[in-house]
Amino acid sequence: MQEGKLLTFVKELATLLESKPSEEIVFSKGKKLLENLIQVDDWLPEEFCKPHPQHYQQYLLYADPLDRFSVVSFVWGPGQKTPLHNHTVWGMIGQLRGQERSADYYQQADGSYKADESSLCQPGRVATVSPDTHDIHVVENALKNQTSISIHVYGGNIGRIQRAVFDPITGAEKLFISGYANSVTPNLWNTAQ
Ligand code: FE
Repeated sequence: MQEGKLLTFVKELATLLESKPSEEIVFSKGKKLLENLIQVDDWLPEEFCKPHPQHYQQYLLYADPLDRFSVVSFVWGPGQKTPLHNHTVWGMIGQLRGQERSADYYQQADGSYKADESSLCQPGRVATVSPDTHDIHVVENALKNQTSISIHVYGGNIGRIQRAVFDPITGAEKLFISGYANSVTPNLWNTAQ
């Protein structure tokens, strides 16, 4: 019996994190694991692919019971965009479907935030965020008439972590906890997943 892709990824990442790797290792070995997961878009169950008409959706796919990591499906309808926000833990963003544009922002001397070049994330590619180097960004669906989906992996339970959104002009910070849109997570032991 073939094991599902999501279960394989969760097992491999849990095994990697068991060795308490540096962020550099997470962003090399862990990134490869995520690249494998998103290589072929044939495993994410339909209920975790559904866009919301007003705002992007965050569906929890798996949360490590020891809060070492979480795996989330982000689903973007056309034109949907995040506010300027941070994460406070390392993160890897794997493009599964469609295309997203991400811009890293850096705080200036006057307190405001300015973007450096934005990048387009194509299916199969993985981008990163890190509180040590580049943790504050804006992400949007780059497609005008199509849903985009990315699989996010964080070094904590991202839906339960208190983090912040920022006003790019004044730099004012507002704390928030994102939570998740779903009440039921996927069955990792269903071989189709
Ligand atoms: Fe983000």
